[in-house]
Amino acid sequence: MYDIVPEDAARWHWVEGTTLEVLETYGYRELRLPLLEQTDLFARAMGESTDVVSKEMYAFEDRNGDHLALRPEGTAGCVRAVIQNGLLQGHARKLWYGGPMFRRENVQRGRNRQFYQIGAEVFGLEGPDVDAEQLLMLDRLWKRLGLTGLRLEINSLGTAEARARYRETLVDYFEARREALDDDSVRRLEVNPLRILDSKNPAMSEVIAEAPSLLEHLDDASREHFERLRSILDEAGVAYHVNPRLVRGLDYYSRTVFECITDELGAQGTVCAGGRYDGLVEAQGGKPTPALGFAMGIDRLVELTQVQGREAPNEDAAVYLVLAGSGAQRAGLVLAEQLREALPRTRIECNLGGGSFKAQFKRADRSGARYAVVIGEDELAASKATVKPLRSTADQATVPLSELGGWLRDRLAEPPVKT
Ligand code: ATP
Ligand code: MG
Repeated sequence: MYDIVPEDAARWHWVEGTTLEVLETYGYRELRLPLLEQTDLFARAMGESTDVVSKEMYAFEDRNGDHLALRPEGTAGCVRAVIQNGLLQGHARKLWYGGPMFRRENVQRGRNRQFYQIGAEVFGLEGPDVDAEQLLMLDRLWKRLGLTGLRLEINSLGTAEARARYRETLVDYFEARREALDDDSVRRLEVNPLRILDSKNPAMSEVIAEAPSLLEHLDDASREHFERLRSILDEAGVAYHVNPRLVRGLDYYSRTVFECITDELGAQGTVCAGGRYDGLVEAQGGKPTPALGFAMGIDRLVELTQVQGREAPNEDAAVYLVLAGSGAQRAGLVLAEQLREALPRTRIECNLGGGSFKAQFKRADRSGARYAVVIGEDELAASKATVKPLRSTADQATVPLSELGGWLRDRLAEPPVKT
């Protein structure tokens, strides 16, 4: 687990803020969920046999003997919450959630034990229009973040019945090639053979590539659903690859599954994964409700913006007050409050702790501010400030204190001049 230091936090704010903005403009609303849930919930929703549930959860017994776990993902809690709060009465819901998730994994690049997700879930719509809209929304988000080269892979898992038939074919295929399977896959052969297709072991890639295709075993309704999804993506000009080996690591998916993948982050290239889980709400004790959603890994997205040299737009419209002399130091905090009144969204930093003129200017510069407002004895006596631009070669100006707020507001509204 790691800290996000202030130098990096601005990037996180930008990535998360942009994501939430896009979600909200598509009509998604926040559902804020607890970090702890009953351990059972995850076992039921994700399957006892998944790595996450069997090996990776931070689960414990509290003082009452309740079995609790730090959430390893958000969908299970989200489904619990919509049922418990009666959010599914009669109409569809578009919801998002976000925050830290916890899995005791082998830590490596792009794989952390506390990591961050933003997830979006839609309840009560069968699609494929809503499936398509989620993919269009993700495409828009990548554009908003200036990210390129993200590959959208899609597949259809069909209905549970169609998958059961496919499962038999797949077991026959792998049984006949048992010697090519690793230990994990041999175990999965009994519990959930579809997950073998999800194996990350390169030694298995050949036997997986030649396995029978799930798409050839789809039921008619799922096939049509998938065709219609594809035709909307075609119509909208969103590129995608059909990957018949794409299965989700989780049990409750049906029909549409998708991932957004980059080649620029090493082995952990999936930045977003999702799909349809029409069976989950009912399985958790709610009314039968079609549903779909995705979760994106914010850690990986943040790193990708860094790798691709994308910067949060420079919003350093900040002002630093340089205060020379004891009178100015007294007046400084009051003046800063007046400026905050006039410029409520601007970062106004007042020099604290005194220091020489030179030292204060150094701090002003390091703060990233665009203007230093200098108040000395002369300025105080004349009720004026000397304003010195720190990021451009423009001349300094003398501005009456009574006009300073308006003067700064006008200047800061202009885009910063790069020097
Ligand atoms: P992976 O195949 O990379 O292990 P997963 O199938 O376990 O992913 P999901 O449970 O679908 O992942 O989670 C959705 C997204 O959350 C992933 O695509 C990834 O971007 C991110 N994610 C999952 N686990 C981690 C982790 N340990 N550290 C950082 N990000 C993660
Ligand atoms: Mg995983």
